[in-house]
Amino acid sequence: MERIAIFPGSFDPFTVGHESIVNRAIPLFDKIIIMIGYNSNKQSFFPLEKRAKWINEVFKNEPRVEVETHEGLTVDFCKQVNAGYILRGLRTSADFEYERAIAQINKKMLPQIESVFLLTMPEHTPINSSIVRDIIRHGGDASMFLPASLNMSEFKPDK
Ligand code: ADP
Repeated sequence: MERIAIFPGSFDPFTVGHESIVNRAIPLFDKIIIMIGYNSNKQSFFPLEKRAKWINEVFKNEPRVEVETHEGLTVDFCKQVNAGYILRGLRTSADFEYERAIAQINKKMLPQIESVFLLTMPEHTPINSSIVRDIIRHGGDASMFLPASLNMSEFKPDK
């Protein structure tokens, strides 16, 4: 049976930390679907289409990585795409506590699902999308936190 993992998140925007987690998980799975979760009642900083386009660009040469968008429960998306694994990154003990609750609840809702956690690379521990957004919002240079293959001129507050 194909080992399909989903990597859910808001990816607003997708950072080098996210990129590293996906790259390190590629040898573990047959397919990784990066699931951009959204809530139509909540405004994101970057539009969904842009976020999807950027992630597609990062993995354009990696046939085992796909990008999808989803509104609703992560476990419903897992059923929809036949995924057996939920991939998440862990930076800190705070991430662990947050992820533990989500993973245990997901397991209750969909017993066949396993959550798989990769510890972040030490240099990516302080990186999170919210800080990167703030840098971009205020016109700073966020390039060192964003995947190197992306065109930095697209990361403007008005885009
Ligand atoms: P969410 O809104 O679900 O937290 P994010 O887009 O912030 O979505 O993160 C998606 C996943 O990526 C989470 O598992 C998060 O812990 C992980 N992640 C975020 N930033 C990093 C990073 N710098 N290094 C490793 N993993 C990260």
